Amino acid sequence: MQEDQAVPGGAIARWRAIPLYVRILAGVALGVMAGVALGPEAAPLALPAKLVLRILGALAPPLILLAIVQALMRAHLGGGQALRLVTLLLTNTLVAIGVGLLVANVVRPGAWTRIAAAPAPEKASGAVDPLTQIFDAVPRSIAGPFTDNGTVMGVIFIAVAFGVALRSLKDHKVETIEDIVHVALTSLITILHWIIDLVPLAVFGIVASIVGVKGFQDFLALGGFVLAVLLALLVQACYYLTRIRLQSWARPLDVLKGVRDALVMAFSTGSSTATMPVTYELLRKNVGLREQSASMGALVGANFNNDGTALYEAMSALFVAQLLDMHLTLGQQFIVALTSVIASVGAAGIPEAGLVTMTMVFKAVALPTDYIAMLLTVDWFLDRCRTAINVMGDVTVSCLLDGRTREDTNGEGS
Ligand code: ASP
Repeated sequence: MQEDQAVPGGAIARWRAIPLYVRILAGVALGVMAGVALGPEAAPLALPAKLVLRILGALAPPLILLAIVQALMRAHLGGGQALRLVTLLLTNTLVAIGVGLLVANVVRPGAWTRIAAAPAPEKASGAVDPLTQIFDAVPRSIAGPFTDNGTVMGVIFIAVAFGVALRSLKDHKVETIEDIVHVALTSLITILHWIIDLVPLAVFGIVASIVGVKGFQDFLALGGFVLAVLLALLVQACYYLTRIRLQSWARPLDVLKGVRDALVMAFSTGSSTATMPVTYELLRKNVGLREQSASMGALVGANFNNDGTALYEAMSALFVAQLLDMHLTLGQQFIVALTSVIASVGAAGIPEAGLVTMTMVFKAVALPTDYIAMLLTVDWFLDRCRTAINVMGDVTVSCLLDGRTREDTNGEGS
């Protein structure tokens, strides 16, 4: 998915030139200092994080919708291979979610420390300050302002956002339905990039407010969560290698060596879409897969295949439930699994996309989305890890599609 980005002005360009993870880490460090210095007074600093989450929540449904529509429109599916592809994608994703839920249930990172039942508290008094008024006007969904309960302010927010986002796309030719979908999706991604620019500020505020109000125990729990996610991703990687060993002619270690550069690129960019062409190339050149298998797995499948994201979303939901001492029944965990599949299919292969679609998983089982703000502090790192697993999933599917026999001894392809 390409992004036609506007050329940002000087200050914004300089801000964007600093890697996101550096900005986020600076936000964490400054947030800790502000939290320690201000104590409970830091509570209102949680507002930017709430704003970011509300907008992410509003962007999620149209992003998922358009990402899936575009992927389906662009996919070149050939006969029986398509069914096999779908089966492989689904089994891998279900295993990923199973692994995530299992590790989260066994390790229970959210139960490592006990916390109060609510995140950084809202303002105590009923007085409505201008900031709160602006916050309340930010729509919870793109369609919200156009319903009976909608406000004019909400309509204005949406008009301004799309007006500015579309400025950089106004000369884009729209001749086919695919163009319309592409322009709509690109404008949403442009807006998403603005919101991601605000993430370091949100991280600063949420860290300050949590440290100020509740001290460091939430972050201890977060450490446990990071370890648990890494463990689950590792298990998933082992599953991939075993499956390659059992169902493909390719040798797992040779495959790993062959696609190493793609995995490093996925980790460093946090984008499986940006990595897609490299994955394809390496599968052809280094691993020696047939052209059709490499393109079905790494180019077509990659649009739908985000096992690392699915695993992460399911684990996050369980983690937050454990943190709040909320028991998620088997039925609710099933809903988490189901929505995680949909959310991962709809997550675009760009940095932090999983965080956007996660709001849907949380809403499905009535978990407070406020807690996603806390995950912002570690998401820059976990995003890179799950992106590498997303790419490894594409690699695995390609190897499995290639079957048990190599096309020819030189691997020259078809
Ligand atoms: N960054 C991931 C990817 O590109 C998506 C996600 O945020 O989970 O695959």
